[in-house]
Amino acid sequence: MTFDLHCHSHLSDGAHSPEQVALRARANGVTHLAFKEHDFMADHSALAQSLGGELDIIPGVEISTLHEGKEIHVVGLCLKADNPALVELLAGQQAARRARLQELDRMMSQAGITGLLAYVSALPTRVPSRTHAADFIVSKRLCRDRGRAFQSYLGRRGKFYAKPAWCPIEIAIKTIQAAGGLAILAHPHRYATTQSGLRRLAGSFAEAGGDGMEVACSNLDRGMLDRLAAVCMEARLLASCGSDFHSASASWMDLGRLPDLPQSCKKNAIWLAAGWHP
Ligand code: AMP
Ligand code: MN
Ligand code: MN
Ligand code: MN
Repeated sequence: MTFDLHCHSHLSDGAHSPEQVALRARANGVTHLAFKEHDFMADHSALAQSLGGELDIIPGVEISTLHEGKEIHVVGLCLKADNPALVELLAGQQAARRARLQELDRMMSQAGITGLLAYVSALPTRVPSRTHAADFIVSKRLCRDRGRAFQSYLGRRGKFYAKPAWCPIEIAIKTIQAAGGLAILAHPHRYATTQSGLRRLAGSFAEAGGDGMEVACSNLDRGMLDRLAAVCMEARLLASCGSDFHSASASWMDLGRLPDLPQSCKKNAIWLAAGWHP
């Protein structure tokens, strides 16, 4: 069994269709795949069926939250998309995304950069994100690439930073669990890098009721992988894995190309808790 429990399609801010992502995952040897679109869930049962049962597509979502003034992503796994509380939460998050896009458009229009809303509405995405705004900025030749668009315009210190109205982290955790899912802290190393910073973050996530954290992620050096494994065990969280694949053109991350979970946290592997026994 090969798990990749975090990836995106163009239904959120990935570059490829769910079909393309699923085929690439299968070609890479993945047997269990979870799409984690931002604040959006799609039904992939027909897609899984069309692949002849060779790829298990597990329901998932990535929820943007606020925690101690920071934007922290929480992923839900094995949750029921039709749970009323979850449907309501995601509707609110999607409304916050649309409001943020409107605010971005207002700020950019004031600066003479027009057309953001029309640009985004022509895309296959079901949820607008800053990734799309970054691509728009690049298309206007204001920046050379997405990274620079975030740095100069869309990031916290950017010219067009719009504050998001995400839900508190506790609400995301509770709602994922009420929908029958596991709540997992996404890519912790993007928020903290030292052992003590990671320990605080994982500890507060566990205290808020979270179930697990991502340990095996793309592009980690051995030291970071070991630090993530250590804080995961210390906080008594389940250990998850995921590439956070967005596009085949980002060569440093690919579907299923993940380090093994370190031996120390293998017994806490999320797939054991979810009932898969490799
Ligand atoms: P949003 O959910 O609208 O806040 O947009 C965040 C998304 O933008 C993340 O999920 C990443 O995929 C992407 N992103 C964040 N920071 C950067 C960056 N510096 N360069 C490129 N993409 C980024
Ligand atoms: Mn993204
Ligand atoms: Mn994320
Ligand atoms: Mn993601």
